Amino acid sequence: MKIGILSLQGDVEEHEYALRKAAAELGKTIEVVRVKKNLGDVSALVLPGGESTTFSALADVGQLKKAIEGGLPVFATCAGVVFLAREVRDRVVGSTRQKTLGVLDIEVVRNAYGRQRNSFETELEVREVGRVRAVFIRAPAIVKTWGRAEPLAYVETPGFGATAAVVLQKPHLATVFHPELSTTSLHVYFLRGL
Ligand code: GLN
Repeated sequence: MKIGILSLQGDVEEHEYALRKAAAELGKTIEVVRVKKNLGDVSALVLPGGESTTFSALADVGQLKKAIEGGLPVFATCAGVVFLAREVRDRVVGSTRQKTLGVLDIEVVRNAYGRQRNSFETELEVREVGRVRAVFIRAPAIVKTWGRAEPLAYVETPGFGATAAVVLQKPHLATVFHPELSTTSLHVYFLRGL
């Protein structure tokens, strides 16, 4: 099975490592490939953390959207979640007018915790996965879910109350934090579902 990582910008290498480790834990054989414009024949796609406006500017949104609507499962983390969301705004500037893939039934507030120095780590209980160490780096907050989006974990977000930190919208998985930096359990969970 071939897993692609959108490699326009962001923490691609960390996802590559986490995917390989997770596959080894599962005894599954996978090939991890970096994709830019051309998705090729990948069976699943990781959207890494980074800067969602850069993804919006550089990605072939039309091609990605078509592939996802055609059934391509996506594991989105941090900026990747912003890029995959239906509705996005920024905590400070409000409307961001950025192009998103419009797939997940969620509303996202970018940079919900403030600036870089408000980044933090915490422990979260994730339904179906267990306890994980979660690294939040200028993270977005999922302030609303509807339709097929199912929250698997929550985090307390100043000004917003408890917001969804992990969302499953089969076959897609989304985490507002960076699992690739602290655990393989979310990658294992995603691979297991493929
Ligand atoms: N703040 C970034 C954005 O809104 C996300 C940061 C990250 O991926 N660590 O796009």
